[in-house]
Amino acid sequence: MTLTIEAPDASGLRPACPVCGASAAGSFESLAATAPRDTARGAVRFFCCGGCGLRFQEAAPGEDGSVYAEVEFPREMVDGPAPSARAGVSWRLFDEAVLDRFEKLAPGRRLLDVGSGDGRFLAAAARRGFDAQGVDVSPVLAEIARKRSGATVWQGSLPKLGLPAGSFDVVNIDLVLVYVPEPAPLLREVERLLVPGGVCRIREFFVDSLRPRMARLRWWYYSDTALRVYTRRSLAQLAARSGLAIERSIPGTELSFRAFRVAMAKKSRLGGPLSPALYWMKKARFGPTPLAADCTYYLRKPAAGRGEGR
Ligand SMILES: [Zn+2]
Repeated sequence: MTLTIEAPDASGLRPACPVCGASAAGSFESLAATAPRDTARGAVRFFCCGGCGLRFQEAAPGEDGSVYAEVEFPREMVDGPAPSARAGVSWRLFDEAVLDRFEKLAPGRRLLDVGSGDGRFLAAAARRGFDAQGVDVSPVLAEIARKRSGATVWQGSLPKLGLPAGSFDVVNIDLVLVYVPEPAPLLREVERLLVPGGVCRIREFFVDSLRPRMARLRWWYYSDTALRVYTRRSLAQLAARSGLAIERSIPGTELSFRAFRVAMAKKSRLGGPLSPALYWMKKARFGPTPLAADCTYYLRKPAAGRGEGR
């Protein structure tokens, strides 16, 4: 099953994949995108990499990924309630599950949240005693996150900040890669910023899962702001090219069944009784293919880190 609908366009244009460099093997127009935010980009056309299968839009020159900010975080939020007040119990359980795992896997507590958004996760990490810092390309969001978490939040593109090597034990990249025009330099920088043995967590929605494959061109993730939509192979390529080893992958949800039940029960009256079925759906696999599209990867920088010279 493949989503490649058309041969490369008549002009012979075959843009190169921003992950593996292979040429696009085809393209399609998303049926999920309803209102293109960026008229310069025109209709939302995705190219399909002939190598790793990444679906990608052509990014405008100088595109920095900040197009996501106004979509994901509407302006009203700037003066809205703090994330701790907004975030319900399901977010609290989610953040705790992630931080539990960081405590088990990471060699220390210096944490960088890449694409820290409204600072919800930063605040949770700081409360747990992590030495947490954030970075966001959006100046508005960087300011919000600073105010709301009390953490240092850098504004800009991470590779351009030039932070000292080996500054962090753990880096979190949660639903951010989809907006990043140049993911390869970002991951190489993450590798440089991690201590040897440090951990990088990446959560994304993957097009080669069963539900997106069934939804085809109508998959909701093919939105105007989704610059790069990953396959598991794309993620593996990205990890390998940045010198990070995939340690584990967790499809569906990181919550334990017990925590998932609590979260669902708090969300709606139906959620509690339905939770066993929903949890099963999130974890179901058909052969090697998961049903749910979201998956979390834990990558590790080898103890004898590349280029560390120690
Ligand atoms: Zn590729």
